[in-house]
Amino acid sequence: MAPSSNRQLLTDRQLRSWLRCRRKAWLDRHGNPSERRWNPHRALQLADREARLQRLIGPGAAAAPSLEQLSQGQAAVRQLLLQHQELRGRPTLLLRQPGQSRLGAFSYQPALLQPGRHGTREHRLTLGFWGLLLEPLLGAPVTQGLLLDPQGGKERVQLQGSQPRQLSQALERLQQDLENRQAPPLTNDRKKCSLCAWKRSCDQVAEAEGHLSQVSGIGGKRRDLLQQLGVADRAALASSKPEWLMAQLDKRGEQRPELALELIAQAQVQETGLPQALGPGASQPLPELEQAPGVLIYDIESDPDARDDFLHGFLILRRGADGQWPAAATAPYHPLLALQDHGEARCWQRLQRLFQHHQGWPVLHYGETEAIALRRMAERQGGKTPPGLLDLHKRVRQHWRLPVDSYGLKAVAQWQGFRWSQSSAEGARCVLWWRQWRARGDRHNLERIFRYNHDDCLATWAVAQWLVAAGRDS
Ligand code: SF4
Repeated sequence: MAPSSNRQLLTDRQLRSWLRCRRKAWLDRHGNPSERRWNPHRALQLADREARLQRLIGPGAAAAPSLEQLSQGQAAVRQLLLQHQELRGRPTLLLRQPGQSRLGAFSYQPALLQPGRHGTREHRLTLGFWGLLLEPLLGAPVTQGLLLDPQGGKERVQLQGSQPRQLSQALERLQQDLENRQAPPLTNDRKKCSLCAWKRSCDQVAEAEGHLSQVSGIGGKRRDLLQQLGVADRAALASSKPEWLMAQLDKRGEQRPELALELIAQAQVQETGLPQALGPGASQPLPELEQAPGVLIYDIESDPDARDDFLHGFLILRRGADGQWPAAATAPYHPLLALQDHGEARCWQRLQRLFQHHQGWPVLHYGETEAIALRRMAERQGGKTPPGLLDLHKRVRQHWRLPVDSYGLKAVAQWQGFRWSQSSAEGARCVLWWRQWRARGDRHNLERIFRYNHDDCLATWAVAQWLVAAGRDS
């Protein structure tokens, strides 16, 4: 990008936002701040970055960063604010290198802590951006940057060749987008929206526009394909001819062209707002519950980055003598904390005791997480997976097509009118509470986790009750 004095300041954060989603960079600058929501993922990322920085360079290096640290040749300088013309940023790390520079008989290269195993275009261009900021201080081009992965792996990134041109084009387009009065469109791959502070307002836009990404089962690639075929939105998909769409998908190499029928039917259900029973099996969706003396509703809370299933929560519903189920809100809730320091064997024993105490009771859970976790734990502990596991999500998908944009527990239970008692609670926030509790031991965070998990169990039961009742009426 050609430097010019009348351009607005561009930051590394804006560039990174833009590389993830053009709309996000625009909203960060021009969006209504009241529509912006605090996102726990960001807090988790920052905490993770801080922990990794401390491991890499020690807590002493956390002192306020200054240019003197660079001129003194400090081995690692963290988050030093740099500006060159209209570019401004804070490289996560500047690492001293052998060589010659304006600073003395040493040089520096920027390093970025990538969150996952693989570096992305966003990471490489960000290193290039930091290289541009560093260049005037070193008095020489910065030819290389470093990506550090969480497992300690390093990737050297060349900041020459085609990289400067790509970066320049990206900055030029970012500047144009920011100068535009209109927000760029929603990102194609809406999976990344779950990490974004603007998700709620973008969801409303997507719903109002009948955006194809609102149809359950349509990701970025399918949306592209449908748009190439002239199917612009959900209403157009709902009124598409099944044979035509199947033939088009077949022509374009889709392995399961019959998917067209499913997508059209799903779009129709969402357009009308009316659920649709799938076949006669819908009348008896959970036969295992009919004669059961009780049911355990099971939900796990996990910290996926730490591969830690830290809470196994159970709602214990014992059928009354009259054959009726008790009110779930008054049923006992049994949280079982799995502290890694106590070892997995102890958790496995406690789980086994619970299952044995409720022998013959189905164990109802939503999604595969619980079954997979138990199966793996049983393998590691040389035991058997407990019998009676019943995946409610599978039964919902098997018997009903619902007017929801996702078949996850949150979307389905909320569609049924269930409300979580902590309105902003979600899995990522629960992980944050867990980490805070581990660090500080405050009881309050643990109680929030239990409440959230208890609500997940209640939501699971609410969906099961709907499924049974809807089956009777179907
Ligand atoms: S919610 Fe999604 S579409 Fe909206 S700004 Fe964020 S990433 Fe982009």
